[in-house]
Amino acid sequence: MKNLDQSERQRITILGSTGSIGVSTLEVIARHPHRFEIFALTASTRVDLMLAQCVAFKPVFAVMASEPHGLQLQQKCVALGLKTRVLWGAAAITTVASHELVDSVMAAIVGAAGLDACLGAARTGKRLLLANKEALVVGGDYFMQAVAKGGAKLLPIDSEHSAIFQSLPDDATTWAAQIGKIILTASGGPFRERAPHTLQAVTPEQACAHPNWVMGQKISVDSATMMNKALEVIEARYLFDVLPSQIEVVIHPQSVIHSMVQYKDNSVVAQLGTPDMKVPIAYGLSWPHRMESGASALDFSTMANLSFEAIDSRGHEQRFPGLALAWSVLNAPTGSPAILNAANEVAVAAFLAREIRFDQIHTVNAETLSTVLPHSPDSLEALLALDAQARAAAQQWVRRLGG
Ligand code: NAD
Ligand code: MG
Repeated sequence: MKNLDQSERQRITILGSTGSIGVSTLEVIARHPHRFEIFALTASTRVDLMLAQCVAFKPVFAVMASEPHGLQLQQKCVALGLKTRVLWGAAAITTVASHELVDSVMAAIVGAAGLDACLGAARTGKRLLLANKEALVVGGDYFMQAVAKGGAKLLPIDSEHSAIFQSLPDDATTWAAQIGKIILTASGGPFRERAPHTLQAVTPEQACAHPNWVMGQKISVDSATMMNKALEVIEARYLFDVLPSQIEVVIHPQSVIHSMVQYKDNSVVAQLGTPDMKVPIAYGLSWPHRMESGASALDFSTMANLSFEAIDSRGHEQRFPGLALAWSVLNAPTGSPAILNAANEVAVAAFLAREIRFDQIHTVNAETLSTVLPHSPDSLEALLALDAQARAAAQQWVRRLGG
């Protein structure tokens, strides 16, 4: 990673700039125009929002995932006389994430679709701000090795992992000797109080209505099933190099404590804040310093109580059967998290398309894990082949259940 002088402007590429994290990142950056310069923005389908972002932030490049969207954007940019160069395709997204003029990359694409660009940024030694947890879940050790070899600095953006990172000492070489447990907090999502047998009737609209956070559709559904927390357990295992047995999840409905580290002496250090992703985003952008995020401050006078519920209480294990899969895949061959992630991406898309029921997301995930033989891929190609195999198996389960 290039060492940045405080007075130098950071040149940044935002992958997934039209999504929830992408938009919040641009909001934070807009407060600090003297510190950041947008090199590239990338998106999948929202051409008009991308155009508005090009007008406001004047990136050198804007990349759309497909040619038709790229051509539409190009036409509109030309019509407005913008200097932004428009590109399209997955390879172009990776190019702007690894370009030599880029200092930092915000990885905010959803799903394994973001893996290649993350690896590009890791191999070229960027400051890599990682929101795209699926990329790390799929890439696992391979991802972490690319970060180490490329000399990149991986800064977690997921609020829980940012909280843990903020609760740990700067020197990562001391972590192993000091960490007792990582305690991830979970809000419990919209169905924390709901009787497990009624979850069959949940609609996509209900699943996407999170009580504390406003997020993209996929992570909202994942929060409702608590598969999001399962992905975060896997993410924590790789980011902080802890054993699966050192990771614990506790339900904390108010989302004020964003996660905690319990040290070997049983002292616990936590990070608190309002549930606003601008806080971890600003921390990632300004690390190792702090800057204004635009998020509101916590008001302790209105916080009558903070509560906690164990996962093995109040029927949570029946309500959220997917959470336990995190530890099963972490204790299986190293390709297993990629199988779980692929199955879950397919299952969530099928649920949102009303092809399967809410409770069947877990059926697809568990059945795919029992159908696809896990192994430990020795190359990126082998890993991607396993991802493709798991997607195909999950699609078959969707057809079986939906038909
Ligand atoms: P979102 O759906 O709002 O945005 C996703 C972005 O990715 C969009 O810009 C979209 O254009 C782009 N994209 C989607 N598919 C693509 C593809 N195939 N190729 C290229 N670009 C593609 O999602 P989000 O809520 O912003 O989440 C983004 C990531 O951040 C996810 O991995 C999520 O788990 C993680 N995250 C989000 C939040 C949150 O509060 N939203 C919190 C923590 C972590
Ligand atoms: Mg999170």
